Amino acid sequence: MPRTHAALPRLYVEPDLVAGGSLTLGKEQSLYLAAVLRKTVGDEVVLFNGRHGAWLARLTSDSKKSVALEPMEQIAAQTPPSDLWYGFAPLKTERLDYVIQKAVEMGAGTIQPVITRFTQVNRLKHERLVANAIEAAEQCEVLSVPVVEAETTLERLIDTWPADRRLVLADEGEASASPVDVLGTLKGQKVGILIGPEGGFSDDERTKLRALPYVVPISLGPRILRADTAAVAALAVIQAIIGDWR
Ligand code: SAM
Repeated sequence: MPRTHAALPRLYVEPDLVAGGSLTLGKEQSLYLAAVLRKTVGDEVVLFNGRHGAWLARLTSDSKKSVALEPMEQIAAQTPPSDLWYGFAPLKTERLDYVIQKAVEMGAGTIQPVITRFTQVNRLKHERLVANAIEAAEQCEVLSVPVVEAETTLERLIDTWPADRRLVLADEGEASASPVDVLGTLKGQKVGILIGPEGGFSDDERTKLRALPYVVPISLGPRILRADTAAVAALAVIQAIIGDWR
């Protein structure tokens, strides 16, 4: 996708984007544009809302409390949201922020925290995860913000897993091998990827998961990767072999 207007700030907004329309930003985004970036009336920004593609808009008011903008023209058509499902055992705060951002950058369409036996975090601040996903979407120029689901448990995930989707399991117990051939067999299928917590999956979790017909265990090489490294590595090989990097 050719990059255009790369130098302009990109903001995710909720309202519809129509030429000649008008929208007013909330306090945080107004402060960011008017105070931090010192944008003034007439300056241009790029807006997206996940439905109408990317729009060039200009400031019609630069009040630090409520910047007003007028969308002028669509500069990129809306792309379909990614179908890639990303499940992970949540990590402690700053690494959790990191994992959410990397999942967005690597093209996940659904981000699902999964509480497993050795997960060290149980209560998540959902609005913080969503804010991280929006910030990452603005930065990496996607046009849809991935859906960040509320946390679930591994048991509930298994009970509700859709029959038409394969679940790639990053299994640290899998004999070291390249995942290229295994992933190649999933071309054209709906997939999800599941990454365990710092303490890994418990033995009975691994046994249970590996016995499921839709689960495809993969190795991510001979070294034990930290959970956030494994997230990026797994998403990279999936995108490169059967995803949207082709
Ligand atoms: N139990 C080990 C530990 O505590 O160090 C490994 C846990 S690892 C830090 C966290 C998660 O990353 C694993 O559950 C798995 O999903 C993934 N992972 C890490 N290294 C991997 C590898 N070499 N192959 C497959 N998955 C890996």
